[in-house]
This record gives sequence, structure tokens and C-alpha cells, in this order.
Amino acid sequence: MEIHEQDVRLDGNAAAGLLQEVFVHEFSGARGACASCGAVGEMGAQHLYMAPLAPGAVLRCAACEGVLMVVVHAGGRFRLGFRGLVWLEMKDTAVTS
Ligand SMILES: [Zn+2]
Repeated sequence: MEIHEQDVRLDGNAAAGLLQEVFVHEFSGARGACASCGAVGEMGAQHLYMAPLAPGAVLRCAACEGVLMVVVHAGGRFRLGFRGLVWLEMKDTAVTS
């Protein structure tokens, strides 16, 4: 059977359910790969820079200090930047093995 693009492409709203499922998982045990140096490590072991009362935080690579992730919470919105991460992996806690 041939698969056509229109058979697998959904509206971007369809990603919402998938992302909701992803973001309920424990972040500190998540692993990621640094886009700057390629190091793979647990997010909880990286360096977080956050000034008191500042609207945002920067997560930097423990190996090279490259920016992995930026989180800003201001104006009633959360903005997440993942430019410094090649990938982010979280354990699916619904799976027991
Ligand atoms: Zn790095």
C-alpha cells in the first residue's frame, strides 16, 4: 500500500494532545544532548541560571556551558526555547519496565 503525505499530515492542533502527554513527565530525570558539544546528560545535572524575581531562566550544559534551554514566564505566557538541545528524552512513566 502506498502512503501519501495527506494520509499522515494532521493539523498542528493534533500535536497538543501529544505534547500534553510529554510534559506531565518528570523533567529532572530527563536526558538531553547538547547542540554545542554533543554531551548527553540528565537535565537535573545541568546548570540553571535564574536571578531572583527574574521572569526567565537559562539552563546551560554542565560540560561546555552552552545554552540548552531558555524558559520565560511573563505576560501570562510561558515561552520555551530549545535551540541548544539536539534532543530531549523523558521516561514514559506509564510504562513500568
Ligand atoms: Zn555542551
